[in-house]
Amino acid sequence: MRALRLLDWKSSPVLVEVDDPVPGPGQVVVRIGGAGACHSDLHLMHDFDGAALPWRPPFTLGHENAGWVHAIGPGVTGVEVGQPVAVYGAWGCGNCQPCRLGMENYCENPAAAPVPSGGGGLGLDGGMADLMLVPAARHLVALPDGLEPVDAAPLTDAALTPYHAIRRSAAKLTPDATAVVIGVGGLGHLAVQILKNTTAARVVAVDNRPEALDLAREEGADLTVQPGDEAVGAIRGATGGRGADVVVDFVGSDATIALGVGVSRMRGDVTIVGIAGGSYPMSFFSVPYEVSLQTTYWGSRPELEEVLHLAARGLVKAQITTFPLESAVEAYDKLTSGSAVGRQVIVPGLKG
Ligand code: NAD
Ligand code: ZN
Ligand code: ZN
Repeated sequence: MRALRLLDWKSSPVLVEVDDPVPGPGQVVVRIGGAGACHSDLHLMHDFDGAALPWRPPFTLGHENAGWVHAIGPGVTGVEVGQPVAVYGAWGCGNCQPCRLGMENYCENPAAAPVPSGGGGLGLDGGMADLMLVPAARHLVALPDGLEPVDAAPLTDAALTPYHAIRRSAAKLTPDATAVVIGVGGLGHLAVQILKNTTAARVVAVDNRPEALDLAREEGADLTVQPGDEAVGAIRGATGGRGADVVVDFVGSDATIALGVGVSRMRGDVTIVGIAGGSYPMSFFSVPYEVSLQTTYWGSRPELEEVLHLAARGLVKAQITTFPLESAVEAYDKLTSGSAVGRQVIVPGLKG
């Protein structure tokens, strides 16, 4: 089969022929119907050198995956060949308390996981291939009726990650609250939808690309703002001066974290999701009182079920552009150059 593999740090991935995976005991092979191209893959290709991560190339990219069950290993029950499924991508040990609660993104025994603190496309082979080996059937979530794998794939990360970040601040997202989304790309455009369709908070979207702000308005953002000197004043002004209750930063640079803190209300939440690697000098004097500055990583399997149901009900829908597997590098180039809108999804079944 074909697979888009990252062969080393600081390199572009290459499309190569590899053997078809064969499911061992408890394992399942999925025929990929869609694999989302995440900005984190660009960080993997260009920003990391191995020091920050407990795993390394080579592996097949693609950590947002959905498709159809293709082959089932010995002992697997409850899964049928041909069944449409989403792949829950964070693969933990399965036995620690967070794993048992479905929060394998926060596995506390990563040494016992298939790969420490990773998953398919993150240290192990992912879904930018015709077939993908999933090491345990519990990582598969059946797709609700009406949801196609190509639409479900980006939801497993680009919607699940913002969903988790937003749910964490649910108590603060009252009808009189303001939420700010910084970075309206793959994750951010779904964050706007999740905020609009699961809370009554007003939503402010920030992005430096006009087409991203157009998309934010289409998704229902109440106000769109360009980053820069005027941004803090514009957002604070829109809240009557008190500031935003919740900020979710899908960039994570020095400038965007400072913007997030700068617009935050006292007792607000500022959540860093983007992994641009920025920092902020937190001190008693640098943030409004009781602001929580926090990071989140991915989401839980129960939250993925909730996201898929939101999608099946039409309340969340990734705006996607599809590419055949042969054009995956082109999709990543577009993401790098800032000309992608919404999420780009690789579909191995498309003709190149
Ligand atoms: P993307 O490239 O699709 O979107 C990023 C958006 O941010 C773009 O619209 C871009 O124009 C905008 N942007 C860039 N710099 C900006 C700035 N200074 N001010 C305002 N907007 C700016 O990326 P994505 O796939 O949505 O991922 C977003 C980030 O989240 C990446 O860093 C990615 O690695 C990270 N990520 C984190 C997790 C997690 O679990 N924490 C999960 C998935 C992705
Ligand atoms: Zn991702
Ligand atoms: Zn665990």
